[in-house]
Amino acid sequence: MTSETVMEKNAQGDPAPLNERSRVVIVGAGLAGVRVAFSLREAGFTGSILLLSDEEHLPYDRPPLSKAVLMKAGEESRIHLTRPEELAAAQIELRLGARCAALHPERRMIALQGGDSIGYDRLVLATGSSVRTLTDLPPGTDHVHYLRTLDDALRLRGAMENARKVAIIGAGVIGLEAAAVLADGTRSVLVIDPADRVMARAASPLLSNFLEDRHRAAGVDLRLGTHIATIDRTANGPTFTLSDGHRFQADLVLVGIGVVPNIALAEQAGLAIAPTGIMVDSAGRTSDPFIYAAGEIAWHFNDRLGRHDRQETWAHAAAHGEHVGRMLIDGHDPAYTEQSSYWTDQYDIAVQVFGTPIGERDVVRGNRAEGNFLIFHLTGDEVIGVTSVNAARALRQGKKLLGQRITDLAALADPGSDWAIVTTKAAA
Ligand SMILES: Cc1cc2nc3c(=O)[nH]c(=O)nc-3n(C[C@H](O)[C@H](O)[C@H](O)COP(=O)(O)OP(=O)(O)OC[C@H]3O[C@@H](n4cnc5c(N)ncnc54)[C@H](O)[C@@H]3O)c2cc1C
Repeated sequence: MTSETVMEKNAQGDPAPLNERSRVVIVGAGLAGVRVAFSLREAGFTGSILLLSDEEHLPYDRPPLSKAVLMKAGEESRIHLTRPEELAAAQIELRLGARCAALHPERRMIALQGGDSIGYDRLVLATGSSVRTLTDLPPGTDHVHYLRTLDDALRLRGAMENARKVAIIGAGVIGLEAAAVLADGTRSVLVIDPADRVMARAASPLLSNFLEDRHRAAGVDLRLGTHIATIDRTANGPTFTLSDGHRFQADLVLVGIGVVPNIALAEQAGLAIAPTGIMVDSAGRTSDPFIYAAGEIAWHFNDRLGRHDRQETWAHAAAHGEHVGRMLIDGHDPAYTEQSSYWTDQYDIAVQVFGTPIGERDVVRGNRAEGNFLIFHLTGDEVIGVTSVNAARALRQGKKLLGQRITDLAALADPGSDWAIVTTKAAA
């Protein structure tokens, strides 16, 4: 289904504007759901806001789960997205342990697991994603870990203490961040991925290369271009035979092979679904004009890109949640133009990526040997993305080149050259 079809459907029977007697129900209290709630209130909504979470914890931030929370006990107390007193001040009702089991759009009701039904004037789906799983290594089995929730992180941290032989399946951001914590010299760490470089979807070859060197220097056995041929289960943990013939017995396995958006509710309710998310327009509206979707779940229209997209990043979940919150009460200027970006921290390396992470060619500016530099990603002579490796200050200038055409590549690569002399004008 195209965005036009969604818009056509939305044009039928537009709902009456929200007022002080209206109720907005938000399913999912992750970053996007929480941002929807607060931005809706900040935009002037005076009706009731109900935020539902199927988790038992107060809303928390996920990025620290593969970083600080794994490294140090107690860090979990510092990752709240909001506190009860802030929710009370904003008159946002939060219900924990409340799983939405079904949508009934025709009656504008949802059903909770356990039987309760709740009516709404607008519904926002902010249900995020769940981990992609391997049938041979199911979640919850001995020695096997996945990492999406705070409970996952606490269980993994507990298991790390006695683990001496770790296998990480997947060299994506989560697998590599965990590897950086686990490879502290007290245990062997092996990372397997069928791709021939790490973070192949999200990093330029230069960045992959740089990170691979750092992981190998920390003693990580990176097995790229390799897959698991067989798994033998023993009481001490699985033994993997890899496609390169290598055998490895692990007492801790972390599977980090990506996520799948939680679209089941929307699908059952007959909302328009894209291959990878709930189809929404620039304002976050689904094919039902009373239902919106925000954050990682949304196959959203980004006006900067001029197309639909789905992002699995913190910056998008925050910005899209805020945008959808505003759109619920004020549909003016519905354009969503967030620049895609993410960060990852591994060992002493802080990576930030803005725009498209992979271009036709890369230009490095800075000192690669000392580990602080920018990588500009170009298509033709246009900068389509920039990656910063421990170079946050230079990135502030480097980001300004996004969308610019470069006339002097040598000047772009020379950290001594003035930023102004290397560009002509914004790309058409
Ligand atoms: C370990 C980890 C590390 C990360 N690190 C980074 C990083 O360094 N940089 C970066 O840019 N991004 C990072 N991310 C990604 C970023 O955190 C996510 O993109 C973001 O949290 C998505 O927010 P969301 O609110 O859309 O979805 P989620 O955070 O998935 O929240 C959805 C919530 O909805 C709940 N829910 C689902 N179904 C129902 C239901 N039926 N009823 C009620 N509740 C329901 C879920 O339990 C969940 O609490 C990381 C993610 C993880 C997991």
